[in-house]
Amino acid sequence: MRRIHIIGAGPSGSIAAICALRSGADAVISEEHPQAGLPENCSGLFSIDGLSALQPFVDQRKIMLKPIHGAIIDFCGERITVRRKEPVAYVCDRSKMDRLLCEKAEDTGAKINFNERIRDSFHSQDIIAADGPLSGAARHFGFPKIRGFAATLQARFKHRSEQSDMVELFFSNSRFPGFFAWVIPRSEDEAEFGVGVEVPARAGEAWNRLLRMKRIADAPKPKGAVIPLEARAQSAKRVGARNVLLVGDAAGQVKSTTGGGVVFGAGCAAIAGIRSDDPLRYELEWRLRYGADLAMHSWLHNYLAGLDDRGMASLGRRLNKLNMDDYLSMNGHMDKPTNMMGPDLMAHILKNFAEIF
Ligand SMILES: Cc1cc2nc3c(=O)[nH]c(=O)nc-3n(C[C@H](O)[C@H](O)[C@H](O)COP(=O)(O)OP(=O)(O)OC[C@H]3O[C@@H](n4cnc5c(N)ncnc54)[C@H](O)[C@@H]3O)c2cc1C
Repeated sequence: MRRIHIIGAGPSGSIAAICALRSGADAVISEEHPQAGLPENCSGLFSIDGLSALQPFVDQRKIMLKPIHGAIIDFCGERITVRRKEPVAYVCDRSKMDRLLCEKAEDTGAKINFNERIRDSFHSQDIIAADGPLSGAARHFGFPKIRGFAATLQARFKHRSEQSDMVELFFSNSRFPGFFAWVIPRSEDEAEFGVGVEVPARAGEAWNRLLRMKRIADAPKPKGAVIPLEARAQSAKRVGARNVLLVGDAAGQVKSTTGGGVVFGAGCAAIAGIRSDDPLRYELEWRLRYGADLAMHSWLHNYLAGLDDRGMASLGRRLNKLNMDDYLSMNGHMDKPTNMMGPDLMAHILKNFAEIF
């Protein structure tokens, strides 16, 4: 029986293991921490469609905390509000999700070695590295580097949002260079505040700016993490007799607009679990399925990161004049921007074109 060594018991690692086992292989997971899900570095915001895609692996009803109906997006003072009557996303208990996924992998037959940090010794010829954004396995096997990272700081505390079913996003490259700041309600009286900046900018300064902007006098010490901002140029290869596949954050399978990586990482991990002996096929399949959307997120991120504050405000004004809030409320998709690009978008822009000029 084929044996697969999976490094990391995050969502990508556990889902890769479940799919490998279901396809008849044997799987062992190494996780450097004593349990899955901790420490938690995630806002836990998943689209409704994303949760449906995760449903074969984790029961969404067990992890949902709060329905979210849309977003208030601030482009340097110009705000657009995208809102739907039905929830578009849920804030979820990410730590519990990782724990449940890991238990499911174990129930399906995976052997899980907690407190095992992998450096350069591996338990099999087929390796799936799901070891997160700073993947040591990718470095060890000489994969191309990820060139862009966002450094983040985030903290949860008592806070009553004016609209507790909406997330707030703040784009300004003078305050939050290369990324953005957020406030995500977790309940009626708790919210997560967070900032991200593109490295080498400093997240600490951005954090203080967010607190001043939101007039928060007293906040707990924030936790730091990193988010990859692009997919690696190569994410799978043969190394001698070994097959080495990178999945999730290790491969940079992350939406670079928002930093959300669980849903795409999970989809790619499912492919990796089945194709662990065929690196080329894995690479082709995930890029065919998710490459266009990831590339569009990357394009949007680069576009936003290149605007000064005047350009950002001007973008907000133009989006408002084009009534893009209406369009996005109807057609917006958190994960798949390619779903929004079609004849409807052209028709909407043409209908509202006169407003701009
Ligand atoms: C502040 C913040 C907010 C976020 N919010 C969202 C969000 O709302 N929605 C969303 O979809 N995504 C979000 N993300 C991104 C999301 O957290 C990641 O995309 C996701 O965790 C990637 O999962 P993964 O399994 O690939 O990697 P990870 O979750 O990072 O798991 C990697 C695992 O590998 C283990 N490991 C690492 N090295 C080794 C080693 N050498 N040996 C053994 N084990 C090892 C780690 O301990 C860890 O358990 C956020 C990220 C940040 C930083």
